[in-house]
Amino acid sequence: TDPALIRNFCIIAHIDHGKSTLADRMLQLTGVVEARQMRAQYLDRMDIERERGITIKSQAVRLPFTATDDVSYVLNLIDTPGHVDFSYEVSRSLAACEGAILLVDAAQGIEAQTLANLYMALENDLAIIPVLNKIDLPAAQPEKYAAELANIIGCEPSDVLKVSAKTGVGVDELLNEIVAKIPPPVGDADAPARAMIFDSVYDTYRGVVTYVRVIDGQLGTRERIQMMSTRATHEMLEIGVSSPEPTKVASLGVGEVGYLITGVKDVRQSKVGDTVTSATKPATEILSGYREPKPMVFSGLYPIDGTDYPVLRDALEKLQLNDAALVFEPETSAALGFGFRCGFLGLLHLEITRDRLEREFNLDLISTAPNVVYQVRMEDAVEHTVTNPSEFPEGKIAEVREPMVRATLLSPSDFVGPIMELCQSRRGNLQGMDYLSEDRVEMRYTLPLAEIVFDFFDQLKSRTKGYASLDYEPSGEQIADLVKVDILLQGETVDAFSAIVHKENAYSYGLAMTKKLRELIPRQQFEVPIQAAVGARVIARENIRAIRKDVLSKCYGGDISRKRKLLEKQKEGKKRMKMVGRVEVPQEAFISALSTD
Ligand code: GDP
Ligand code: MG
Repeated sequence: TDPALIRNFCIIAHIDHGKSTLADRMLQLTGVVEARQMRAQYLDRMDIERERGITIKSQAVRLPFTATDDVSYVLNLIDTPGHVDFSYEVSRSLAACEGAILLVDAAQGIEAQTLANLYMALENDLAIIPVLNKIDLPAAQPEKYAAELANIIGCEPSDVLKVSAKTGVGVDELLNEIVAKIPPPVGDADAPARAMIFDSVYDTYRGVVTYVRVIDGQLGTRERIQMMSTRATHEMLEIGVSSPEPTKVASLGVGEVGYLITGVKDVRQSKVGDTVTSATKPATEILSGYREPKPMVFSGLYPIDGTDYPVLRDALEKLQLNDAALVFEPETSAALGFGFRCGFLGLLHLEITRDRLEREFNLDLISTAPNVVYQVRMEDAVEHTVTNPSEFPEGKIAEVREPMVRATLLSPSDFVGPIMELCQSRRGNLQGMDYLSEDRVEMRYTLPLAEIVFDFFDQLKSRTKGYASLDYEPSGEQIADLVKVDILLQGETVDAFSAIVHKENAYSYGLAMTKKLRELIPRQQFEVPIQAAVGARVIARENIRAIRKDVLSKCYGGDISRKRKLLEKQKEGKKRMKMVGRVEVPQEAFISALSTD
C-alpha cells in the first residue's frame, strides 16, 4: 500500500469509557465484521479480558475505508492495553501510530488514565483527536466536558467530536476525521527493513504471533529475520495482516502494520519494543525506546496442596510462553512448603496471573504479601538485589534504595484534602496541582512504589467515594530508611511474614502481625511467644497461653465411637499442620494471616 493512503491510530481512554465498543463499531462500519458475526468486544480475545472488561493484550486490526473524498484508505487500529501495569506496552503501541483518538465518557469527564495516556501520546508527537463518547446517555454533559477537553489539549470546544459508540452516531464522521487529521506514515522505502514489535502473542495453533509496524524498507515472506536486541535470527514462516482474522500477504512495506510468524518458540524471543530487520541485509540502528520487561512486584506463590507443585511449575511455564514479563524461580518456605517466587509488572498483573493459574490449571494457591525490589549496598560496597524480604542481607548496610513512581491523581476538588492526607501518610511528595475545570483537580505526586502496591487504590477510592482515579509510571529510585521486620514463633523466624517497611512503620506492622497470629494459632501444650523483631531488637510481643491436655475429658467417658471420631479428626488436622520449631501451626492460619482484607 502507498504510505500516503495509510493511517495508523490508537484509541486512548480511561477504563469503561468505551474503547472496545468504539472499536467494534468501526469494525462493523468498515464492513470487516458482518453484523451477524458481531459480538460485543470483538477484539478482546481473552476470557479474562471480557469478564473484567479490560484489555490486556493489544491487537491491531486493518480497516479499509472509503472517505468522503472517494479515496480508499487503509486505517490500522492499534488497541492499547489500558492499565498502568502495562504502561510500557502502551507506550510501544503508541509509538506504532501517528495519531490517537482521545476518547472520554461524556457523562464522566476526563480521568487519570486518560491524562496519563495523553501525556504519553504527546511525548510520541501523535496527532490527537478529542472525542466524547456515550452522548446517547441522559446523564451526558457534552458541553461541559468538551470545554474541559479543549482546555487540556488546546483546541476549541467545537473541535471535539461527539459520538455514541453504542448507537454508532458520529462514528463515520470520526473515521473521516482520522483520514483528514492524522498524518500518513513516513519512512525510507529503500533502506534496510526496520519494524517495531508492539505486541507478541503465543497462540496454541500458530505459535508466537509477532505484531509489527514497519518503519523503513520492506519485510517479505522469503527471508530470514533478525531481532536487533539479541542478533538472533529466525525463519519467516508467514506474514500477514489482521482484518480482523489473519490474512496472509506477500510483504509489508513502510507504515504498514501486520503480523509475522517465525520459528520463535516463546514470546521472550520476540520482545515488545524490539526492532525486526532482515538477516541478509540488516539495518544498523535499532529503533529507540526498547526496554527489557522488568518485573516491579514480587510475590511467593504456593500450592495449598503440596502435591500440586509440579502442576504449578508446568502452568507457570505455559503462561510464560505468552507473557514476557512474568518471571519465576523455585522457592521454599518453612511455613508454606515448596513454591515459586514470581515477578510481575504490577498488582493487576499478579492478580490476573493468579486468576489464570487457578482457573485454567485448577490450582488452589496462596500468595505472600507482594513486595517491590530493593537495592541494598553494604558498607564494603557489595550490592544486593532483594526480591524476597526474607533474603534481606544481614550485616553492615550502607544504604537501601527503593523504586519510585510518578503518580497522576484526578479528583473532584472536594477531595483534595483527603487525597493529600493519604499521599502524605504514604511518604508521597506533591509535585504539582492543576485545576482542569472549576471542580476537577489533577494532582501529581512522587511516591514509593511499595506504598502503592499495598491497598493504596482501595484507600483512595474509599476516601473519595470512588471518584478519584489514579495512574502511575516508574520513575527512578530513592534512598530510604527501610528495615526488615521478622516475625518469630518461639524464637523461630517465620519466613513468609518477613517484610521490608519504613522505619516509622515497623512498629505498627509488627504489632498488627503478632496480634493477627495470636488469634489464628491454636493454643499448644506450652506457652508460645510471638515476637516481631528488627534485627535482634524485639519491637512487639504477644503470647499464646498453654492448654492442659483435656480434650478427651470433654467426651464424658461413655461414648467410645465419639471419642474415636475426635481422635481421627485430630489426626487429619495434623496432616495440614506445619511445624515451626516445636510449634504446630495449621496451614489455614498462615493463609488467613497472609490474605489481606
Ligand atoms: P472500555 O473499557 O473503554 O473498552 O469500555 P467498553 O467498550 O467495554 O464500554 C464500557 C461500558 O460502556 C459497556 O457497558 C458499554 O456497553 C458501554 N458503552 C460504550 N459506549 C457506549 C455509548 O456510546 N453509549 C452507552 N450508553 N454506553 C456505552
Ligand atoms: Mg475494553
